[in-house]
Amino acid sequence: RRDDGAVRWLSSHGRITRDDQGRPMRWAGMDWDVTERREAEEQLRLWAEVFRTTSEAVAIADESVRIVEVNAAFERLTGYSREQALGRGLDLLDSAYHDEAFYAALREQVRRHDHWQGEIWHRRRDGTLHPDWMVINTVRNDAGNISHYIVVFSDISNLKESERRIERLARFDELTGLPNRAEFMARLERALAARGEQEKQIAALFMLNLDGFARINQSFGHEAGDRLLRSVSERLRRAHPALACAGRLSGDGFAAFAAPLDDSDGITEMANALLGALHEPFFIGGQPVHVGASLGISLAPTDGETARQLQQAADSALTDMKKSGRGSYRYHTADISNRVRESLALEEDLRVALREDQLRLHFQPQVSLQSGEVNGLEALVRWQHPERGLLQPAAFIPLAERAGLIGAVGAWVLRAAAQEMVSGVLAAWPKLRVAVNLSGVEVESAELATQVASILEQTGCPGERLELELTETLLMRDPERTARTFARLKRQGVQIAIDDFGTGYSSLSYLQRFPLDRLKIDRAFVADIPGRAQGEAIARTIVALAHGLGLRVTAEGVEAESQLNRLREFGCDEAQGFLFSAAVPAEALDAVLSEISSAWQTLAG
Ligand code: C2E
Ligand code: CA
Ligand code: CA
Repeated sequence: RRDDGAVRWLSSHGRITRDDQGRPMRWAGMDWDVTERREAEEQLRLWAEVFRTTSEAVAIADESVRIVEVNAAFERLTGYSREQALGRGLDLLDSAYHDEAFYAALREQVRRHDHWQGEIWHRRRDGTLHPDWMVINTVRNDAGNISHYIVVFSDISNLKESERRIERLARFDELTGLPNRAEFMARLERALAARGEQEKQIAALFMLNLDGFARINQSFGHEAGDRLLRSVSERLRRAHPALACAGRLSGDGFAAFAAPLDDSDGITEMANALLGALHEPFFIGGQPVHVGASLGISLAPTDGETARQLQQAADSALTDMKKSGRGSYRYHTADISNRVRESLALEEDLRVALREDQLRLHFQPQVSLQSGEVNGLEALVRWQHPERGLLQPAAFIPLAERAGLIGAVGAWVLRAAAQEMVSGVLAAWPKLRVAVNLSGVEVESAELATQVASILEQTGCPGERLELELTETLLMRDPERTARTFARLKRQGVQIAIDDFGTGYSSLSYLQRFPLDRLKIDRAFVADIPGRAQGEAIARTIVALAHGLGLRVTAEGVEAESQLNRLREFGCDEAQGFLFSAAVPAEALDAVLSEISSAWQTLAG
């Protein structure tokens, strides 16, 4: 202790001189004040302890960037033991996450500034990649030459994770998990941009607002309201497979879009699906609650090209909708809205038509190419509309399919055709068979065979006189069920024909699997005869294929004698087309059939 009270460390060296008896006589020596050194040592010890225990990985490398020391955290974090790390280059941890340029820039920064820090992905010993926050410092000696590099890093995976969560919160609605307004609009914008390359494609934006949501919040509380919003979003998300993305734009405002679309046909169906998703009641505390919604729809490019324009258009349609009574949808474009209204009106008319018997059957003869006899008639439906006149099937069959009326139309056709065979004009030709077209919906219905059986029974028409026409694509949809239905139909004697053969998707093994009777060569191939080699080759091949499988062949759309002659050369069994007759009402058949038989004499001759 110095006289000023300060405590100093001394290093003492001395020697004691003793007398003969060994007693100490004097002491001579020197003392050094080593307080500074002691403190430096103490500090070194402390630093070593810090180095040892810090949770940050530390590596010290020499001037040639070889690792000369690492701490425990380094071993823990990287999976390399001290022994494995020593002597290795610092590039030991480099990962393919970064490219060469990244590392070059890093080295350049260290060279120029003796320092680098930032986020870096390291490869651990087990091959996994982790994000680290890393600081590199260069240590120089008194002469200014590099002696060491000190590298310190720590794992920031957790940090990254919370960063991602924060980013998620910025883009998604926390309550429902749906994209929020900003994210939804960004996605819509991207979808619109992608569509840009395919000029003709369109996009549809649906803006949906819940009706009376505030009331629910008031009477059941906010927690119940939140749960309801979650259920709503869940249902909207799965409302229709063509809807690309649903979002929550405000408290009770949702949106969805579909893009790209080839045409506007499915859009009304999507609107109905969105509204229909809310039809079933929601349950709050065991109590059923109905939530209505209004929907505004806008289309690109008609209503705008950007997400913003589409949003405004759909919003204004939505506002209009709400003003005029809620609970339904409205298009922004009046013109489309009119078309939809028109088709809705026609749909209503069709219901009336079924009740008031406005449908008619026309019949087109199918002529044997061996004998010239008429073997069968194809029944083709017409609609005698009170204001619009006689409508062709193209004008109402697709509509009937969309409106869920095709089953009723199909049943009417079947019954009318069967009835005509036994009790109408056609009763005079007991050998004639009638072919009836089936739409996909009917074929998929489990009741088809039962329905046919009961119609045959009620009308007294033998099953052998009925043939059903369906397209090949239908066969593939649910082959097991279709095969079962066919088997039941066959037991009733009913024949089965594949319509428009060659235009759909078919596989030869499937043709073999089903109990079929006939293939009908599509009009498009017949139109190529004679002359266009491809159509001819296809027609000839279909005939050979059908005969190989034990099936008969009918050519459709035969309009010219030259076509007829080629088809006979190919061995085609029957033909049907304007050359013989268009489809005519049953009353006209008498005249048509005798005309065909006299014409055949000339043709055959
Ligand atoms: P499809 O089964 O291929 O019927 C043949 C169509 O070709 C008929 O038109 C017929 O009038 C027409 N056609 C007949 N011969 C010729 C010809 O020589 N040249 C040309 N260019 N055309 C000819 P339609 O009656 O307008 O029927 C169109 C489609 O509507 C039918 O095609 C069928 O898919 C559907 N269809 C008709 N009736 C019914 C029905 O009762 N139920 C169902 N589900 N669909 C039906
Ligand atoms: Ca047909
Ligand atoms: Ca056809």
